[in-house]
Amino acid sequence: MQEVVTRFPPEPNGYLHIGHAKSICLNFELADEFKGKTNLRFDDTNPVKEDTEYVEAIQEDVRWLGFDWDELRFASDYFEELYNRAVLLIKKGKAYVCDLTADEMREMRGTLTEPGKESPGRNRSVEENLDLFARMRAGEFKDGERVLRAKIDMGSPNITMRDPVLYRISHSHHHRTGDAWCIYPMYDYAHPLSDAIEGISHSVCTLEFEDHRPLYDWAIAECEMESTPRQYEFARLNITNTVMSKRYLKQLVDEGVVDGWDDPRMPTISGMRRRGYTPEAIRAFCREIGVAKSNSVVDERNLEHFIREDLKLKALRTMAVLRPLKVVITNYPEGQTELLEAENNAENEEMGIRQIPFSREIYIERDDFMENPPSKYFRLFPGNEVRLKHAYFITCQEAVKDENGEVVELRCTYDPKTKSGSGFSERKVKGTIHWVEASQAVPADFRLYEPLILDEASQGSDKSFLERINPNSLQVEQGYVEPNMKDAVGGDKFQFFRHGYFSVDSKDSGGGKLAFNRIVSLKSSFDP
Ligand code: ATP
Ligand code: MG
Ligand code: MG
Repeated sequence: MQEVVTRFPPEPNGYLHIGHAKSICLNFELADEFKGKTNLRFDDTNPVKEDTEYVEAIQEDVRWLGFDWDELRFASDYFEELYNRAVLLIKKGKAYVCDLTADEMREMRGTLTEPGKESPGRNRSVEENLDLFARMRAGEFKDGERVLRAKIDMGSPNITMRDPVLYRISHSHHHRTGDAWCIYPMYDYAHPLSDAIEGISHSVCTLEFEDHRPLYDWAIAECEMESTPRQYEFARLNITNTVMSKRYLKQLVDEGVVDGWDDPRMPTISGMRRRGYTPEAIRAFCREIGVAKSNSVVDERNLEHFIREDLKLKALRTMAVLRPLKVVITNYPEGQTELLEAENNAENEEMGIRQIPFSREIYIERDDFMENPPSKYFRLFPGNEVRLKHAYFITCQEAVKDENGEVVELRCTYDPKTKSGSGFSERKVKGTIHWVEASQAVPADFRLYEPLILDEASQGSDKSFLERINPNSLQVEQGYVEPNMKDAVGGDKFQFFRHGYFSVDSKDSGGGKLAFNRIVSLKSSFDP
């Protein structure tokens, strides 16, 4: 072999998902390994479902993942050549125009145990076939009235080889070729020929195309293509608690279950980007799961592991209070603010330190106080002392309640000797909690996620994916972040002490508003 040339061939009928990322990594990295090339080719042979919006989104996603194609191609660029090769097939007696309806054709195709029946059109003369095919192209027939079929073997044990359809009639507008064509090639015909035209050496596709490989080889041989690419199949990626097909994902978008293809709960590349996943994490995940010949389902927690690994040393570690409770430190001088030092990443000294304000009023997490705690609760309760991260020890003196009996404020005292970094060691406390200084705190929304779709295993296999939508997939909290984060912009990533990794939402932030998407919590019950 002279050169390894691969291609990534998406149909522009939706946005790419994490399953596509596996195929992208495989194709691009395979070529890279052998100093070859990879084309991005849009498999745009089905005009009804395709759109330029998708063409653009797909390019953006491939680039964002960190790959650069050698050439950008469209199967529709080859329509004329594909047509001419079909004429060649007819002339060789290898293709014919068939008048059966789709139902009749299905019926006559036979089964695994029964051979198919021949179509009456199968014995048409070459002249008649050439004439009919030209008239199909000229628009003389309605959708579905006729098709062009390969003349192979109606008795083949491989049903794919029983005179498959090569062209169908569709009077619809194509996003690139407009109304130039009203016949469109089928995937099984367009794909091998497109590969051959581009000089692809390795045509990598998913396992369900294994049965189509003889047809792939047949088309290339019978159409007398100069180059002979080969098809190789690998297992598609499936992940727990999600659906992974553009058709289903589009349904979620169209029915308003999510707020678009890039909703942070979606397994799309754009959704994962908005959620805060990095290209590095996605690529590492794809590499780790490897390439297999049998289908399996990968645990979603596996993916989460890779984003934690990627952000661990990169993300600024700061404090955010998601469900705030006001604390007044009664013995701290009124009107005074001091600046405390905090390391930006305890595991990566190079990230330096920052200064955070501290004063008489702070916010803590509502969950970090309990009036009547169970044993082993080491956070705040009346009379208990805890450490405020980067600051002082405080002791809860009193819980102030509203008329409904709900705790709305805590009154605490602090011990100035316990300042963080002072070396204080006279007594120890068991709990450390985070906080944000109240007067300078920056309000923010925090979006917390659970899986969008629940697995059949937990929900019953009789339920469609739309019936398995998790009602708790999104929860929004309104709280505060440290003042130094007021200028954070879309895509900035942080580790919030105890809460996990978050990314600034690029759509819902700006103009004085900050919204954070939780990418992943700090720990999972499962870390491979
Ligand atoms: P979908 O059903 O999501 O539309 P598809 O296979 O029809 O998937 P294409 O746009 O044709 O989508 O896919 C482009 C490439 O990505 C193909 O080579 C396909 O095999 C591969 N691919 C699609 N889904 C997966 C997956 N889940 N895992 C691995 N590769 C995939
Ligand atoms: Mg496809
Ligand atoms: Mg598809």
